Amino acid sequence: MKTESVWVTETFTSIQGESTWAGLSCFFVRLSGCNLRCSYCDTTQAYPRGRKTSIASLARRFAASSAAIAEITGGEPLSQSGFAELATRMRDGGGGRPVLVETNGSRNIACIPDGVIAIMDVKCPGSGEAAAMDLGNLKRLRPHDEVKFVVADRKDFEWACRVVRKHQVVAHCHAVLFSPVEGRLSPATLAEWVLASGLPVRIQLQLHKTLKMQ
Ligand code: SF4
Repeated sequence: MKTESVWVTETFTSIQGESTWAGLSCFFVRLSGCNLRCSYCDTTQAYPRGRKTSIASLARRFAASSAAIAEITGGEPLSQSGFAELATRMRDGGGGRPVLVETNGSRNIACIPDGVIAIMDVKCPGSGEAAAMDLGNLKRLRPHDEVKFVVADRKDFEWACRVVRKHQVVAHCHAVLFSPVEGRLSPATLAEWVLASGLPVRIQLQLHKTLKMQ
């Protein structure tokens, strides 16, 4: 039986601040609930259940919006039974506009529908949640997916570089993104480390925070 609704913390339209899609207008659906508790989490408002919302109405809202893309985020979207139906309906009703899903890397990404783009975290040790990762996901990546490492310190950086090299992550997805934890690692330091590493990974800063947007 199809799931007809999902738990939603908020919906909003803003500028996409992360991934290679940064800078585009984006209709966000933030699903409620997360199975992790990262040390640097800035979306704790998504932990409790929000409003039960029909999948059809969310798909209609994206269809009617002028946003260039949509993103389903959380919390952890893949934890909700209605996620795949929501992603499929938004993809099919969006007139060909890209639909992204931001996932924390602890759930099997095989449930992400064809054509929907995964922006998948691999949690580093500094998050406190590295042990929760499903590293089998690195084999499930599709060419349009992106992988993000949020880096708190040098130990995280070296750990992330080892994962990228060991699993040949760059070859298995569209982009590998390294992002500094705000207040714990300066972007300039991370940039120096990336340059010295020789890895073809991208520095990612959170554009929406620079713009002081949601
Ligand atoms: S996965 Fe995301 S929402 Fe969940 S605790 Fe970590 S940073 Fe917060």
